[in-house]
Amino acid sequence: MARMLIGGELVEGSRTLDVIDPCTGAAFTQVPDADEGDVERAVAAAKAEYPAWSRIAPESRGQVLRAMAAKITENAEELCALLVQETGRPMALAQFEILHLATSYLNYYAGLEVHPELIVEDDTRRVELHRKPLGVVGAIVPWNAPIYIACSKIAPALAAGNTIVVKTAPTTPLTSLRLGELWAEVVPAGVVNILSGGNDAGALLVAHKDVAKITFTGSTETGRKIMASAAPTLKRVTLELGGNDAAIVLPDADVATIAPAIFAFAFFNSGQVCAVIKRLYVHDSLYDAMCEAIAGLAASATVAPGSDAAAEFGPVQNKAQYQKVLHYLAEAKVAGKIIAGGEVTEGPGYFVPLTVVRDVSDGSPIVDEEPFGPILPIIRYSDVDDAVVRANASPFALGGSVWGSDLAKATAVAARLESGSVWVNQHCALDPQVPFPANKQSGFGVEGGIEGLYPYLALQTINVAKPGVAA
Ligand code: NAD
Repeated sequence: MARMLIGGELVEGSRTLDVIDPCTGAAFTQVPDADEGDVERAVAAAKAEYPAWSRIAPESRGQVLRAMAAKITENAEELCALLVQETGRPMALAQFEILHLATSYLNYYAGLEVHPELIVEDDTRRVELHRKPLGVVGAIVPWNAPIYIACSKIAPALAAGNTIVVKTAPTTPLTSLRLGELWAEVVPAGVVNILSGGNDAGALLVAHKDVAKITFTGSTETGRKIMASAAPTLKRVTLELGGNDAAIVLPDADVATIAPAIFAFAFFNSGQVCAVIKRLYVHDSLYDAMCEAIAGLAASATVAPGSDAAAEFGPVQNKAQYQKVLHYLAEAKVAGKIIAGGEVTEGPGYFVPLTVVRDVSDGSPIVDEEPFGPILPIIRYSDVDDAVVRANASPFALGGSVWGSDLAKATAVAARLESGSVWVNQHCALDPQVPFPANKQSGFGVEGGIEGLYPYLALQTINVAKPGVAA
């Protein structure tokens, strides 16, 4: 059985959790289900190692992060196969997440270092601003991109000098546990601890008095609970939550050129990404052509188990999410006209065809809420100002995009969106060097870039009186 990494030891734990194959709906293995004792031991190990880790030179911490990235690359074949098995996604997507995204975050933060800043210096005083690590960080990860999201938290946390306890998502623990086994060979004991387990293990981490900060990616609903239970210990929190990204297609866009990219960014990972296109606003003059192009691409896509070489899109990852997506499919039929997909075929697994809905409007659940699955509503608009208002009329504000031929015009419209990231003629362009902020109820704190390092550091000013200056 896969084991958890606690204080440098590989641990089986006393309880188990089934791991379900989303392509069949059947359990294919088991993993440890961390109990209170496991959480205690992991936090204690991280706390014990923190003083030493926080004191070593940033270059040495960077070397460890690079060694972690190298372990991934050296074992890519095995890791990608595990990720395909537990998520059902196609191999190319597993490779993109593991070999491109995860390693690029580890390597990027390996090279980052912060230095004290001189704030004021005059005859009377010298004031410096320092940034210092916080202590033990608890990272709580969702199932949709388990390795990328874990690494995007581990990398800045460790680079800043913190130690970490990672709690994997209950339905996608396998690849992370294997990574823990591999990392045990290159990471000092206690610096990285990896727990598999249910929501209760996450809640224990959030409430723990020795955890200084929680970095969480997941649903807005859970984000609210985390914020509330972090309050008694006044923990720092970074929350990367849900999104309902709008894309606006301007009247001067070229449908034939942009439709394949819009399709790809809407259905990436079968729509199970926080920042993919979830509402597509298309100008009246292009509406029919765009609907036809996107529906054509969706109808000809191959949805199949990721282990099948022909698969372009996999299943919904777990049963609870599958049921949620089925609910939105039913809503879509009421709210508009289905022009691709829409019918789930009998058979094992959590497969949903790529579904495109036209003639829908704001106010219906399929537009206003986040299905987190392969359903795209296409909404007609006639006035760009109105489209901007409608795109912004959401409690979420994670990502958004504007598509058009005149880049200056499209960029000006993009700047009016309220989301943390706005893209022009692309969407969800993740890059470790670029901050990925969340606005409104999509969360707060930021990941990516140097700005993504700061939430793992506490500010301190050192204010020194010069000789002869009375206190
Ligand atoms: P979820 O909130 O159900 O679970 C996420 C993690 O939180 C899991 O590890 C879970 O065990 C844990 N958890 C659940 N309840 C907890 C509690 N009370 N205390 C502590 N931990 C708890 O989310 P999910 O279904 O795994 O992920 C889907 C959601 O995540 C979507 O809404 C999506 O938009 C969002 N998401 C956001 C981003 C982003 O960067 N903003 C990225 C990916 C996913």
